[in-house]
Amino acid sequence: MKEWGITTKAIHTGLNLEAGSSSVPIYQTAAYAYDDAETLANVFEGKDFGYIYSRISNPTVTSFEQKINALENGVGAIATSSGMSAISSVIFSLTKTDDEIISSKSLFGGTYEFFNKVIKKYGVKVNYVDTCDVSAYRKALTDKTKLIFLESIGNPGLDVPDIKKISDIANENNIPLVLDSTFTPPYLFSAKEYGVSIVIHSATKYLTGNGTTIGGVIVDTGNFNWKEYKSDEFLAESKKIHRRFIFLALTRRIIHQNVGVCMSPFNAFMHNLGLETLALRMKRHCENALKLAEFFNDYSKIKTINYPGLKDNKYHLIAEKLFNGKYSGMITIELESKEKCYELINELKLVKNMTNLGDAKTLIIHPASTIYHEFSKDELEDAGVNDRLIRISVGIEDIEDIIEDFRQALEKI
Ligand code: PLP
Repeated sequence: MKEWGITTKAIHTGLNLEAGSSSVPIYQTAAYAYDDAETLANVFEGKDFGYIYSRISNPTVTSFEQKINALENGVGAIATSSGMSAISSVIFSLTKTDDEIISSKSLFGGTYEFFNKVIKKYGVKVNYVDTCDVSAYRKALTDKTKLIFLESIGNPGLDVPDIKKISDIANENNIPLVLDSTFTPPYLFSAKEYGVSIVIHSATKYLTGNGTTIGGVIVDTGNFNWKEYKSDEFLAESKKIHRRFIFLALTRRIIHQNVGVCMSPFNAFMHNLGLETLALRMKRHCENALKLAEFFNDYSKIKTINYPGLKDNKYHLIAEKLFNGKYSGMITIELESKEKCYELINELKLVKNMTNLGDAKTLIIHPASTIYHEFSKDELEDAGVNDRLIRISVGIEDIEDIIEDFRQALEKI
């Protein structure tokens, strides 16, 4: 049978329907009862499949995991309480004291803080590289390197790395490539085809799309041979289970279960609903963002416009190749000064001044004074943030209304 397309998969995968319901119910339960002691013991030991406790797994959450795993063509997924807990779970699972990781400098502020303020405390060193300098990833490799981490489109730098070339370096060296693909959900990017080992999404953003629910997810694409991973823990596990499932089994059993970063069943229900319209929404986000970026071109008050969909953008060609001819819904612009940025934001009527992205609503933020307000000058530079920068997450409203709101605001400043 021909493989289903993105939207069919998103709607029909993981549909464990009962009592004639048309959507997966919310299994609002903390634990699961069994008729006899032997069966529950077997489930605990992994001899029988079954649910035990919703901190470990839950049927509504499983449905979300199955959907996103189908979209990424992976071998399995783990849903988490947030995008940050998806990132931290992967890092905790793959590293220990004295290990090193290589990371792109162009990172979401929370990830950067997690690397610099949390894992540093546990003795894991991060070697930062310029995300687009492929050779820098090779140069940064040491025999302690445990993984390479990057974002498919840097937030908020909007720089686009050559993911295939970087994954080639990772794979040649038996090091997993971990990609935060939050900006480029499956409708745009097939991480597995580009050699990525583990894909992470903040499900809070495009996957769900309505700005209602915090969540995250980790998918193992099946590209990496975990039997070859430089870790005694992984080696010991490889004697018990198939190499494809080592990462997922260890991450769920040791990290996810014990750190307690589970997704709630209600949140999984919201993510499942959102996923059904992923492709429709992404098409509209991309079309609207391109039109808004083109509109900005007419304004000399706007000093720079950064959107990979614009033909003269530095990352246009690589983005076109990687993302299926689409460029996601994020734009940054630079004005003359911080004051002008504030004025513009304050004059907008429809567009909402708030953090978050990938919402159906168009959102705007001044990153330097919000998400990055505690960052040093050097850190801001690494992240591609300055005082004159504004980030816009273009929503799916009627584009005429988004443009009109910016037009009236730009005319006033
Ligand atoms: N990754 C990226 C690229 C993000 O932009 C964000 C949040 O903005 C996160 C991860 C963290 O996700 P969450 O807010 O769901 O924890």
